Amino acid sequence: MSGAQEPLLCALHDSSLASVLPGIMTCVHCGFCLQACPTYRVLGDENDSPRGRIRLMRAVVEGDIPLDDPAFETHIDRCLGCRACETACPSGVPYGQLLETARSAMLQHDRRLPFVAVVVLWIFARPMPLAFVLWGARVLRGTGIPGMLARFGGKLGALMAMLHATRPVLLTSPYTRRGTNARGTVTQLEGCVMKGLLAGTNAATARTLATNGFSLVDSPGQRCCGALHAHAGDLRVARALARRNIAAFEASGSELIAVNAAGCGAMLKDYGHLLHDDADWNSRAAAISAKVRDVSELLASAGPAKGAETGHELDVCYDAPCHLLHAQRIARPPLDVLASIPGLKLIPLEDADQCCGAAGIYNLLEPEASAAVLAPKLGHIARTGAKYVITGNPGCLMQIGAGLAIAGISARVIHPVDLLDASYAALERG
Ligand code: SF4
Ligand code: SF4
Repeated sequence: MSGAQEPLLCALHDSSLASVLPGIMTCVHCGFCLQACPTYRVLGDENDSPRGRIRLMRAVVEGDIPLDDPAFETHIDRCLGCRACETACPSGVPYGQLLETARSAMLQHDRRLPFVAVVVLWIFARPMPLAFVLWGARVLRGTGIPGMLARFGGKLGALMAMLHATRPVLLTSPYTRRGTNARGTVTQLEGCVMKGLLAGTNAATARTLATNGFSLVDSPGQRCCGALHAHAGDLRVARALARRNIAAFEASGSELIAVNAAGCGAMLKDYGHLLHDDADWNSRAAAISAKVRDVSELLASAGPAKGAETGHELDVCYDAPCHLLHAQRIARPPLDVLASIPGLKLIPLEDADQCCGAAGIYNLLEPEASAAVLAPKLGHIARTGAKYVITGNPGCLMQIGAGLAIAGISARVIHPVDLLDASYAALERG
């Protein structure tokens, strides 16, 4: 029997979940994705695997279980959205889109998000409250109190440990070395956490791009990329934020858009799909998505230029952000960036392609599952003996950094452009 020939039973014909039935039917239940799935590995329940979740989605579309079935909500909630199942799947199941659509359908069906999620999503959609909260977080971080509270564990301790993990690792004095501007114009996504808590990395991104021949242009008026909203199923707000960003990037006239946060980069590259039903915006969204590059892609395309020894002992391991490796399929460029730093020793990290359990605000909503996913990674990092863990996403940086601090492991987490920047600063110092 061919599923493509048969009329498909579709009890939920008025739900957005029914619209992705062709994607659901792409799954042939082979199970190749199971061992790639972090929640299946730690929870051992088929319903917490990609195959199980896809079966549940199909059961909802075919009317076997209701959309507000508590078990359906539980297993969809427990998904990290890491998309490791997509790279493992031989059938090309578009799992990320299925998950977002399932969560969106649940929200449209009067499902209430947890209070924490409502508050976080409300703040991230509004520039002024977001700026105020991040300013408060910077002030608190500057007192050193988060580092002390991190030791007490619990939810507050974990939150404070995440904030503590964002303090600068290597202080680099700005340098003036410039490339030839031959690689065209590029504008940066400022980001929310990146701009508010990791502004040094944003500055390092601009300097390293300029050193490698890119000409930086401003694009004022940016908002949150909308990834947190899209992953929670709030596609209405995600689309509204996307339209603001598209307008801002268009006005800049830049040829390329550099992103140093893997989760945000995956979202921007998906704007074309997010707005595909919007006749006024779909072609504009697709045009912007086509200009988006992770910063490591841009730097690797330029070589990148060699730096000098930083004077620090650089025994490092690299942990791949899921939204870089699985969502954007970018594996080699961050390693090319690291290879241009003299004196850096890259130590292999076991299961570097496995999720760290951060997943947006998953670590706030599902703390036990998040900690269980993170635990083996902390052990693998400790066994490398590395002084620095390199990763290109703020969520991973905060999650792994917090886990290391709570576990008493001395390694610090740092973005690859910060190390490259330190290497360029050393070159100018001579
Ligand atoms: S690997 Fe792909 S086709 Fe196979 S069970 Fe998983 S999602 Fe389905
Ligand atoms: S997105 Fe990640 S957690 Fe969710 S089903 Fe796929 S592999 Fe598992």
